[in-house]
Amino acid sequence: MGNPTRSQFFIDAEKIAHDLSHRKTIQFNMGKYHAAVNFGKSRYLNLKKTRDRAAQIKKEALQSLPDYLELFEKNHTANGGTVLWARTADDAIAQIIDILQEHDVSSVVKSKSMTTEEIEINEHLEKNNIESIETDLGEYIVQLAGEKPYHIVTPAMHKSKKDIAHLFHEKFNTSKQLTAEELTSVAREKLRQKFVDAGAGITGANFILPDIGGIAVTENEGNAIMSTSFPKIHIVIAGIEKVIPSYKDLALFWPHLAQHGTGQAITVYNSIFTGPKKETEAHGPEKMYVILLDNGRTNVYSQTDIDVSLTCIRCGACLNVCPVYTNIGGYTYNTTYQGPIGTVITPHLRDFDSYVHLNSACSVCGRCTEVCPVKIPLHELILKNRQLAVSGKKVSFFEKNLMSLFTYAASNSSRMDMVSGNLKNSFFSLSGNRVWGDKRTFPKFSKKSFRSLFLKKNRKK
Ligand code: SF4
Repeated sequence: MGNPTRSQFFIDAEKIAHDLSHRKTIQFNMGKYHAAVNFGKSRYLNLKKTRDRAAQIKKEALQSLPDYLELFEKNHTANGGTVLWARTADDAIAQIIDILQEHDVSSVVKSKSMTTEEIEINEHLEKNNIESIETDLGEYIVQLAGEKPYHIVTPAMHKSKKDIAHLFHEKFNTSKQLTAEELTSVAREKLRQKFVDAGAGITGANFILPDIGGIAVTENEGNAIMSTSFPKIHIVIAGIEKVIPSYKDLALFWPHLAQHGTGQAITVYNSIFTGPKKETEAHGPEKMYVILLDNGRTNVYSQTDIDVSLTCIRCGACLNVCPVYTNIGGYTYNTTYQGPIGTVITPHLRDFDSYVHLNSACSVCGRCTEVCPVKIPLHELILKNRQLAVSGKKVSFFEKNLMSLFTYAASNSSRMDMVSGNLKNSFFSLSGNRVWGDKRTFPKFSKKSFRSLFLKKNRKK
């Protein structure tokens, strides 16, 4: 039996790559991102040095990860919070449902978090009759549309203003002509009461701060602050790799993440949550729980070379420069994390055999590695995954033998010339769409090769 995830990937990729309306929307939105980031990079006095430093700090944090996590647990507990450890997504879901049921919570407001997407929290809460509302505008839009985030930083990147106006018209009967500002006002109005009514707020964590037992959250809309200050309970779902050694490192990481994520000098709202409110404090949640999620991360941690991918700060820059991502879009990957970083980590976070094919959808151009703010050698990790797939025989018999034959023939031009141009054309017309897709015409080989023409010409002299 073939791999259905792999087959679907190629079907979806071919379809979306030829969807001109999708391409137009993505090019427009990416164009704005690139302009902002290029301007933003001019703010650095020394970008190279900052990347070196950020990479070094994250690597140090990774090397002592177990110690830092224990320190975080100790300090956060001392602050009055509760730390829970979840080995799998199911463990995390069970812990969240337990907390919500214990406190009789029937509605939850959520701020943007890819870790909560990873464990599919909304679907599970719905099954348990708990309303879960996304409060980040992009997430709210994709939730209304019944979709998943298209991009790890900009969830609704694939939608134009017109698409969103039509969606709001369908859901709220508003005018299809609303401006971007008017659409935002509609969302704000709808969400305001949800914050007031919610029994709990759920956030992710951009960074875990072991030295003060805190977590850091960065956002542009203030919705994470509202999700954590209105409800009585704050639940955080944090991947265990989010550690940086100290809150002092935020001076580097907050602007560095903002710069690479959106081109901003710094994101608008940056918060540190260390625990529930104290008796002397007027605001804040009465209870705070932090769930430290593994869900395959220790598997990545145990793989030499691949473990560096855990230093990712989820800025999305590698997706935005990837020629594959920008052509096939976020949904084709069928994963929580898309683009180069998703390609590297998903086979190790999930089932290797089912997702390793993503690594063949890479031109190894290296642009992802060039832009990564923490210097993850993404294209090399993709090659490493390919190597693991071949050595573990996870590529198809056809692919493996075809590549061996091609390597043998292409490494010597006289071998290539042993087959005539006509025969080569016949072979490729037989294999046809399988190699090139049915939207493109395979280029014809000339009857005589350049080498034979060259030799003939020189013999005459
Ligand atoms: S791998 Fe690097 S560029 Fe890609 S999302 Fe992570 S930090 Fe950003």
